[in-house]
Amino acid sequence: MNIVIFGPPGAGKGTQANLLVKKFKLHQLSTGELLRKEISNNTDLGLKISSIISSGNLVSDNIVGNLIEKYISNEMYKNRLIFDGYPRNLTQAKYLESLLIKNNQKIDIALKLTVGLETIKSRITERKNLEKRTDDDEVVAVKRFKDYENNIKPIIDFYKQSNLLKEVNGEASVTKISDEISGLIDSIKG
Ligand code: AMP
Repeated sequence: MNIVIFGPPGAGKGTQANLLVKKFKLHQLSTGELLRKEISNNTDLGLKISSIISSGNLVSDNIVGNLIEKYISNEMYKNRLIFDGYPRNLTQAKYLESLLIKNNQKIDIALKLTVGLETIKSRITERKNLEKRTDDDEVVAVKRFKDYENNIKPIIDFYKQSNLLKEVNGEASVTKISDEISGLIDSIKG
């Protein structure tokens, strides 16, 4: 089973993906985490993307595409991936589909966490204190939220067309959201 989880910054994608990893023995593929690792390891790529990430802009489709390709083509992760933070636009959604087809895989469910801006602002402030992410500044967070809203419609339509889209209320408690997601996954597993 491969899962896409998406939602605005601070929607709880990472938290929920983490819980799914444990429950269904999956592997979390967070493009944001992979990119932050490049920065903290001071790699050439890290140096190139550091200011892009801090300003809340998106890294190029090519860069993130190369990162995910390695995982999709790796037998160890076959049909065990949760895509957290990817796709971010329609080009990426189509690229993901083509990579999966090439590797005899598919997306089984696309989970959309829906959360309003006010909740996002307070969660981002909380996370800033815990994780010290450079992009968890309120102004940058609002920008990232708005960009998300502007880019998300084609992705929603893309997954709706293939009947994979499930919407979850991301304002609920972590446990409630997790139970709802588990129920949705169980129902598609049959
Ligand atoms: P996230 O941890 O998913 O909130 O991502 C943090 C930052 O990493 C984003 O604001 C982007 O700068 C970058 N990033 C993560 N995933 C992608 C992606 N799929 N496409 C482009 N940039 C990304």
